[in-house]
Amino acid sequence: MKRKVMKRQVKKVFVVDRFLMVATVVVLLFANILSNWTNYGKQNVGKTQIPVPATKNRGSKVVSSNFEDKKSDSSKNQIYVNVLRKSTKKVERMSLEEYVIGAVAAEMPAEFATEALKAQAIACRTYAARKISKKMLHEGYEKQKVYLCDDYSHCQAYIDINQMKQRWGKNFDKYYKKIYLAVMATKGEVLAYNGEIIDSLFHAASGGRTEDAKEVFGQSVPYLQSVVSRGEEACPKFSGEFYFPYDEFVKRIKNFYPNLKFDTRKISSQVKVLQRTNTQRVKTIKVGNVTMNGNEFRSIFGLYSTEFWIYPQQRGIEIKTKGYGHGLGMSQWGANYLARQGKNYKEILFYYYKNVKICRVK
Ligand SMILES: [Zn+2]
Repeated sequence: MKRKVMKRQVKKVFVVDRFLMVATVVVLLFANILSNWTNYGKQNVGKTQIPVPATKNRGSKVVSSNFEDKKSDSSKNQIYVNVLRKSTKKVERMSLEEYVIGAVAAEMPAEFATEALKAQAIACRTYAARKISKKMLHEGYEKQKVYLCDDYSHCQAYIDINQMKQRWGKNFDKYYKKIYLAVMATKGEVLAYNGEIIDSLFHAASGGRTEDAKEVFGQSVPYLQSVVSRGEEACPKFSGEFYFPYDEFVKRIKNFYPNLKFDTRKISSQVKVLQRTNTQRVKTIKVGNVTMNGNEFRSIFGLYSTEFWIYPQQRGIEIKTKGYGHGLGMSQWGANYLARQGKNYKEILFYYYKNVKICRVK
């Protein structure tokens, strides 16, 4: 589908009268779930146990969307995305929903509760739809109209069917079905604030409280406010302990700050947290004669989060962390906890993203 057409359709969603929109969402959702279930049942009859997109000949220009119910879903109304695969440098074209399945599979453990997977599906779809609606093309791939890559540190992670099979092994059928249904139950749904698709940031675990965007970006974002996030302790990296001998510690910082002056004899005065945010994340830290922000320090030492504490030892530095990820937006482990407490995906999303509405892109 051409970008112009798509943008018009994305915009159109937001000018619809609120009542009409809600009514449409309800009707479409119901029809969708019904058709997906019907379709799912039909496909189970065949050799393929689950509606898996074709993996053969999935080169750069092959459109593969045979997991869609084509009868109820006119293919010309579908959004397609070009995804850059970082390892092969190939561009793969797929429907938005097929992309979302791969993104959810890559970004959230398939063992998580279904409502958490649905919330994740909307977060992943919103992330992609925002890039498309804002024409945020991938640097170096503008001509191929690439909006997304599969690198979690740049865009968001995405894995294809073969990678899912590798990751899940004998559980592939079960987990694919679970994620497919979670994505299809929320098909086309994205989060919007004030008529604009939001920046749907998410992270593994906040450490007890998500971060306010103002602390990170310098200006507040109405939907990225700090909230209490419970039940994250199950996250394997919820707490972390790191240890760096002094020579290693100094070497790592010197890679970025060659002029670092650091006296290991006066260690307690050499590493000092200068400022923390309201949620106890490190805002600025001074090491020797160098002052840097918490994020920079985190990436230099590969820490799980910026919520860290420094404990100087005889021969090195011990660092303890709390939480995993940047702490903005939805906490995935917190979302799973809420789902297990009986909350549905909308309640989960509205808890972590304030003042947003669910809209549909088509
Ligand atoms: Zn990217």
